[in-house]
Amino acid sequence: MRPHLVFWISAAVRITIILAAAGVGAYFFGQTTGLILALLGMITLIVVQLQYLLNLSDWLDNPNSARLPDGWGAWTEIFSRLYKLRRGDEKNQSELAEWLARFRQAMTLLPDGLVIMDDVMFLEWCNPIAERHLGLDLGRDKGMRVTNLVRTPEFIDYIILGRYETPLTLSLRDRKLIVHVIPFENRRQILVTHDITESERIDMMRRDFIANASHELRTPLTVINGFLEIASMQPDLEVSIRASHIKLMVEQGERMQRLVEDMLTLSRLESTDFQVRTERIDIPLMLRHIKQEAHALSNGRHQFSLELDGPDIQGSADEIRSAFSNLVTNAVRYTPEHGEIKLIWQNSAQGPRFIVQDNGIGISQEHISRLTERFYRVDKSRSRETQGTGLGLAIVKHVLIRHDAQLLIESTVNVGSKFCVQFPNRAVIGAV
Ligand code: ADP
Repeated sequence: MRPHLVFWISAAVRITIILAAAGVGAYFFGQTTGLILALLGMITLIVVQLQYLLNLSDWLDNPNSARLPDGWGAWTEIFSRLYKLRRGDEKNQSELAEWLARFRQAMTLLPDGLVIMDDVMFLEWCNPIAERHLGLDLGRDKGMRVTNLVRTPEFIDYIILGRYETPLTLSLRDRKLIVHVIPFENRRQILVTHDITESERIDMMRRDFIANASHELRTPLTVINGFLEIASMQPDLEVSIRASHIKLMVEQGERMQRLVEDMLTLSRLESTDFQVRTERIDIPLMLRHIKQEAHALSNGRHQFSLELDGPDIQGSADEIRSAFSNLVTNAVRYTPEHGEIKLIWQNSAQGPRFIVQDNGIGISQEHISRLTERFYRVDKSRSRETQGTGLGLAIVKHVLIRHDAQLLIESTVNVGSKFCVQFPNRAVIGAV
C-alpha cells in the first residue's frame, strides 16, 4: 500500500475512534462530557505524536539501526523505511570502506611512488614507495608543503614552475628518480615517482661493456691491419720478416677469437633462458685432466700438487670445468717460474670446496672485490702478455652464481693467492 494512504487511513481511524468515544460520552453523559472526551482524546493523540517525534529526534542524534524506536500506525511505516535506509547506508559505508582498503592495498603494491597534493602542494596522502623515494613519512608529514619536505632545488623549481609536460629526472638519496606531476580533479595534483637507478646501472654496464669490448678488439685489429698494409705496399718483403709478421697476425687473430668466445660464453651464462644442466660430475677425474692441461701450459716452469678428498657433485660439467680451469690457468699465468700451485678438492662443514693456491705475484687488497668485473685487470700489460681476455673471473663468477656457489679470494702481494670455490652441501649427489 502507498505510504500516503497508510498515513491518512491510520490518522482517520484514530480521529474516528476519538470522535466516536466523544459521541458516546455526549449521548450518555451530556455535551460537555462529550467535548471533554474529544479534547482529551486529541491531546493524547498530540502527546503520543510528540513522543514519537522526540524518539525520532533522539535517534537522529545518534543513529544506530539496532536502536530504532518502535512505532504505531503511520510511525511504523516511517520507522521501517528509516530502518531500511539506515541498513542500506551502513552497507554502502562498509562496501566503501572495504573498497578503500583494497585501493590502499593496491597502491602500496604499485612499483611506483604516488603522492596526492592539494592545490597549494600540501601533502594529503602518499604510498610507502613514495615515502621511501622522497624520504617522507605520511604520519608525520601529512598536511605539510611538499616543497618543504623535499628540499632539492631542482624538485622545488619543478613543482613551483608548474611545467609538468616534461618529467623531471632527479638524483635523490643515492637513487635516480623520474618525477612526474599530473593535475587531477580541479585543484589537486598527483605526483608519481619512478625509480630508474637499476635500469641506469644496467645501461651504464652495457655501455661500459661495449666500450671495453670494442677497445679490446681494436688493438689486435690495428696490429693485423698494419701488417696487411705493409704486405700490400711492400710485396717483395724478405721471407723471414713476412713469416714473423704472419706469426704476429695469427697471434692477434687468436686473441680476438679468445675474446669473442669468452664474450659469447658470458652472454650465454647470463641468459635466463639457458638453464643449468644437472648431471653427475666426477670432480676428481675432471681435476686430473685440468692438472695435465696446466702442466702443458706451464711447460715445466711450475710444480703442481693435487689433493682429492671431496665427493662428486651435481651441476653442469662444462660450466664447472670452464670455471675451475680458468682459476688454474690464472694461477699458472700469475706465478713466476719455479712457483708452486696446489689444487685441493675437499669437504667442509659448509659443503665441498675447490681451492687453487699459488705462491705467485699476489693481488693487493683494493683490487680483490673488483676482480670478477668484466675486463678488470690489476695489471693490463701483464694480463695481455699472458694472453688474458680480462673475462676469466667474470665467467667464473657467473658459473658459480648458477650453481649457488661462492668465490672467496685471499691474496698477498708477492706471497701468493688462494681462490676458493665453496659449494653448498646440497650440491653433493644424494644430499636432501
Ligand atoms: P685475465 O684474463 O686478465 O687474467 P681474469 O678475469 O681471469 O682476467 O682475472 C682478472 C685479474 O685478476 C687478472 O688480470 C689478474 O690481475 C688478477 N688475477 C687473477 N688470478 C690471479 C692470480 N692467481 N694471481 C694474481 N693475480 C690474479
